[in-house]
Amino acid sequence: MRHALTVDIEEWFHVCGVERLLPPSRWPSLPHRARESTLRLLDLLGEVRATFFVLGYVARRDPGLVRSIVSYGHSAQCHGDTHRRVDALAPAAFRSELRDSAAAVADACGVRPAGFRGPGWSHTPWGFEILAEEGFEFDSSVLSLRPRPHRRGGIGEFPVSPLLNGTAIRLLPARTLRGVVAALEARGVPAVVAVHPWDLDPGFPRMRFPFPQGVLHYAGRERAESRLRGLLAAHEFGRPLARSDSRTALKKETYSGVR
Ligand SMILES: [Zn+2]
Repeated sequence: MRHALTVDIEEWFHVCGVERLLPPSRWPSLPHRARESTLRLLDLLGEVRATFFVLGYVARRDPGLVRSIVSYGHSAQCHGDTHRRVDALAPAAFRSELRDSAAAVADACGVRPAGFRGPGWSHTPWGFEILAEEGFEFDSSVLSLRPRPHRRGGIGEFPVSPLLNGTAIRLLPARTLRGVVAALEARGVPAVVAVHPWDLDPGFPRMRFPFPQGVLHYAGRERAESRLRGLLAAHEFGRPLARSDSRTALKKETYSGVR
């Protein structure tokens, strides 16, 4: 079974919940490491094709990076514009963020994004409706211990197990990660793994984030690259996320969360 690898392209300082420490006014003065760490990740992936959710801020600041992602054969989708949580925005502000980030990604690589991942795994019922109205075809913002592709608000939803996100890859033993993917495979469910380039970047600057963000953000960075390599070697990865994929999955399976 082919599983999906997804990557959120943002800077190390795009951390939900610490906006007072790192307001957007400070961003231009902070070291930018997304280019360096993303290029290293592109090399690491080899033949594996992934779905990249790119923050509008990064796409505007470094459009060449988005072009590099696409030139390696990956798809570039949206991760919002300024890394504000969907549930912290009014609907009109979310729509505006969507349009700005989609335009930034499309301007950078020439392809309009069709997929979205909310910053900090945030999502709202009205958010799915706005995504569909704005022409988006799929979403991958939901964390679920029983992830299974399904339809939600008129678009395809690809939930991610909290045992397969970047924090888990940094903190859980390699054997456990492989076991999580194998358990999903046994249930006939393709895994969706999610990482950030900064998960694999031991060199990004340390900030004094409050507990528990500090621990969750920094721990295990040295181990993450070998863990990801191990996971990619142990299972087959390269499943693209797309609306048609969630439709196919739904035909085969019944999911209690379908709306
Ligand atoms: Zn993010």
